[in-house]
Amino acid sequence: MEDKMVKTISLVVPCFNEEETLPLFYKALQQVKPALRGAVLEYWFVNDGSRDNTLAELRQLQQKDPQQVHYISFSRNFGKEAALYAGLQATTGDYVAVMDADLQDPPEQLTEMLAGIEDEGYDVVGTRRVNREGEPAIRSFFSNAFYWFINKISSTPIQSGVRDFRLMTRQVVDAILAMPEYNRFSKGIFSWVGFKTKYLSYQNRDRVAGSTSWSFWKLFSYSLDGIVDFSDAPLVLASFIGIASFIVALLAMIFIIVRKMIFGDPVMGWASLASIVLMIGGLQLFCLGIVGKYIGNIYLEAKHRPIYIIKEKK
Ligand code: UDP
Ligand code: MG
Repeated sequence: MEDKMVKTISLVVPCFNEEETLPLFYKALQQVKPALRGAVLEYWFVNDGSRDNTLAELRQLQQKDPQQVHYISFSRNFGKEAALYAGLQATTGDYVAVMDADLQDPPEQLTEMLAGIEDEGYDVVGTRRVNREGEPAIRSFFSNAFYWFINKISSTPIQSGVRDFRLMTRQVVDAILAMPEYNRFSKGIFSWVGFKTKYLSYQNRDRVAGSTSWSFWKLFSYSLDGIVDFSDAPLVLASFIGIASFIVALLAMIFIIVRKMIFGDPVMGWASLASIVLMIGGLQLFCLGIVGKYIGNIYLEAKHRPIYIIKEKK
């Protein structure tokens, strides 16, 4: 099945304030290029509304290497998910790699990924983190809890530690592009499309320069989006809470009636009454919040706004 034609590998690189890392990234990639079986590289950098000189760096790289380097620059920050989508849409290569600009994704692994696709017949070769060393304990805890929860309630398996860094065939990329949803959760989308996937193990490493743009709360809200995008179980939860409190209320009613018939009805217990009313009120708001989150997502989808706006493309 060996194809003699020269293959093109497109690299999709979302960039948000990566002025320091970009030249290092490009250099590192050019170094692994000879090990990529003569493949032609096509870089697609996506400047996601950076506030530093990322765009200037990209223009410079593009002028230096117009054959290989392309970039898209957004009109503002639309988020990594939007940047990935824009990059994937622009690619023309037979294979497409998704990589972070900060060299946390080791470029050397591309060689092994390519072998996985061309020699072993996989459609996707991804990377999976084997340790969480160097990560704050609280972050690991929430991360583990998130994966445990989402896999309990979603029919799309979302494996812990899987990174976005991956090499895919054109067929897989086309499948991903056929999901034009506004609320994009790549971990779910990559898994949802299926295909034969292999994971290489990945050791945590620090970014070469700059700093991460993910705060704890940003990650937290991203996880909530993932749950809402890939499961409707929380909606069912609202019904369960309703049924459960109905049953409790029914038992309580029987208890109160029986007690009244046997002991009469001394007036007391307003404190318990108040707390029960408050609790039910709280549960109702909680369930309303869940429903609201889904409606909010429907609202965002229904507006059909573009996922990103391009200001400059080369
Ligand atoms: N990124 C982006 N838009 C954003 C945030 C991040 O395009 O709003 C890019 C960023 O430039 C990097 C990748 O997404 O190439 C991963 O971001 P980061 O390194 O900050 O995340 P971490 O590796 O800490 O998860
Ligand atoms: Mg990073």
